Amino acid sequence: MSRTALATIHLGALRRNLARVRERAGTANVMAVVKADGYGHGLERVARALADADAFGVAALGDGLRLRAAGIGKRIVVLSGPDEAADLAEFRRLNLGAVIHHEAQLAWLEADRDPRCLRAWLKIDTGMHRLGFAPAQAHAAHARLRALPNVDSDIALMTHFAASDEFGNALTARQIEAFDAVTQGLDGPRSLANSAGLLGWPQARNDWVRVGGLLYGLSVVEGKTGADLGFEPVMTLSTKLIAVNRVRKGECIGYAATFECPQDMDVGVAAIGYGDGYPRSAPSGTPVLVNGTRAALAGRVSMDLIAIDLRNVADAQVGDRVTLWGPQLPIEEIAARAGTISYDLACGMTKRVLFVEDAA
Ligand SMILES: *Cc1c(COP(=O)(O)O)cnc(C)c1O
Repeated sequence: MSRTALATIHLGALRRNLARVRERAGTANVMAVVKADGYGHGLERVARALADADAFGVAALGDGLRLRAAGIGKRIVVLSGPDEAADLAEFRRLNLGAVIHHEAQLAWLEADRDPRCLRAWLKIDTGMHRLGFAPAQAHAAHARLRALPNVDSDIALMTHFAASDEFGNALTARQIEAFDAVTQGLDGPRSLANSAGLLGWPQARNDWVRVGGLLYGLSVVEGKTGADLGFEPVMTLSTKLIAVNRVRKGECIGYAATFECPQDMDVGVAAIGYGDGYPRSAPSGTPVLVNGTRAALAGRVSMDLIAIDLRNVADAQVGDRVTLWGPQLPIEEIAARAGTISYDLACGMTKRVLFVEDAA
């Protein structure tokens, strides 16, 4: 029996979003960030669709391995580099670029006699305080990489923004300034901007932009949808109604009886729940589409099911299509109701969801 919850991935939209990113990136190269299984859209599928990107960015070695196994020959950058000394042989074998952000990684490299060349991206912490060398250590780290015969001498320089989604936030301006100051006198391509940096901080485009969210049509600015920013949603999450029931006024729906019917009404039950990755925190009133018409959750999201207030929908039937998010219902709207961001929802689909591709 086929599963009911479907994530439809619109490959044409993904490609058009890349073209939009490119337009905004000007002369900068575009690293398409495909970590977290392509932001939940499917790593190999996304990588094949984004053949026009200049490189792929992944979080960890395992993702690079998957891409090479899928026959992807493009440049790949592993954004947190090796996690242990033994990873280096795999980086070299698979020709994966390694972000070097920590003293421990430098020590592994210096002890590594493997003659195969490694391409390095030196990560400098300019204020995010997650990964990266402090500005005061950056020149020494660069010199140590340069001294290694088995590290490509063309070392890229990068930093990551903490708050570029707030276009007026002075932290980003300070990060750009700090990066410019510390990298003065170092050669090599420079990379600062993520999606929000690309949109809000044109002075940070430099040689490489590293863009994830916008490719998938996910908003990177609070209060705006991906479409508001000029990008198309790439995922539609949908399922079917498996019951339509008449429920009397004053009766309650679902676990903990949190929704009381204000009148006699039709309540639909759809085959999706937090076991599929639909957020359990989405409260009553969260919008869904039934046959394209807006309706609302009634009561708690359960593991396999949601209940839907059908007062707004005429003639709903068992088997009707229910859309949880997609081009007609922004994922950002659901994320806001659920107290999270669109990235979190897109990354959260479980194995139970059937992924299908749509060429458009
Ligand atoms: C995830 C990530 C990006 C992409 O961020 P978006 O906001 O999705 O564009 C860029 N650079 C690094 C280092 C990242 O970890």
